[in-house]
Amino acid sequence: MDVITIGESMVLFTPDSTGPMRYANQFSMKFGGAESNVAIGLTRLGHKSGWISKVGNDEFGKGMVSFINGEGVDVSQVSVDSEAPTGIYFKEPRRANDTRVYYYRKGSAASRLSKDDLNPDYFQHAKYLHITGITPALSETAREAVFEAIKLAKQHNVPIVFDPNLRTKLWSEEEARKTLLAIAREADIVLPGIAEGKFIFGESDPARLGELFLNQGASVVILKDGARGAYYFTAEQNGRVPGFPVEQVVDPVGAGDGFAAGFLSGLLDGLDLSKAVERANAVGALVTMVSGDVEGLPDKEEIEAFMNQTNEDVI
Ligand code: ATP
Repeated sequence: MDVITIGESMVLFTPDSTGPMRYANQFSMKFGGAESNVAIGLTRLGHKSGWISKVGNDEFGKGMVSFINGEGVDVSQVSVDSEAPTGIYFKEPRRANDTRVYYYRKGSAASRLSKDDLNPDYFQHAKYLHITGITPALSETAREAVFEAIKLAKQHNVPIVFDPNLRTKLWSEEEARKTLLAIAREADIVLPGIAEGKFIFGESDPARLGELFLNQGASVVILKDGARGAYYFTAEQNGRVPGFPVEQVVDPVGAGDGFAAGFLSGLLDGLDLSKAVERANAVGALVTMVSGDVEGLPDKEEIEAFMNQTNEDVI
């Protein structure tokens, strides 16, 4: 595998109408989860990815595994838990610029992930381990699984890529800060957003944040700055890569996952850091133009066409 990742994916229901969800009577159903989004982003770009997870022994679990596998992701490390359901969540478009998310994931199958679910052999030939700050927030056993995955990756010299993906609804601020920092200290590459950096260090100056993350031990820090693009920092170099202009953002969710997939794809293809960040920005931008977390993820041809198009082409 080029990249292996570990985390929960859930069924997402979105009312077809805008307004308080109590009045909704029709919903659209999709599958979503940060880690599987990244895995799918990578297969679209021609890489091999694997997703470690757990689903319930139910229709949603079956549909989800089938969907993610159908996108080319290896699901051999997904187990079925007969004691707990697949998690679900709702995205309520309350009104323009006010979308609310409600989770029904407590006690879900994936929250019962534990270190016993990890197959050490799976880590042996991976090129990168991707983890997010969502998985350790799911439960004590899931947190242990993340730290065990880190240990296995280190044993096999697999670089660890960490996207904090802060979810304040899942745990207390104090616990989140402590754990995200502990994982950042183990990571080789960290991909925080500026707001996440501020949450962890109480600092929002990009240069200072880059330095703070590097000081924790990472060799590469990529700081995401929304539509403006991203900064990169290593001990030897740093810079800023502007984002791609997007005329109309249809759905911003999933941009960070697309960004991670684009960045890792760039590294796997041997691009230098600024070019990998440029590809990451392009994937992030494309994701925002389409509704859904994974629908906008480009394949190789699309990403090249998008990155090569001039402003005249856009007009
Ligand atoms: P997520 O909501 O998926 O967790 P995030 O907060 O981790 O996202 P963002 O900084 O919002 O990450 O976006 C990630 C990247 O996607 C940005 O660094 C940028 O490259 C691209 N991107 C996001 N929004 C836009 C936009 N409006 N226009 C162009 N590019 C964008």
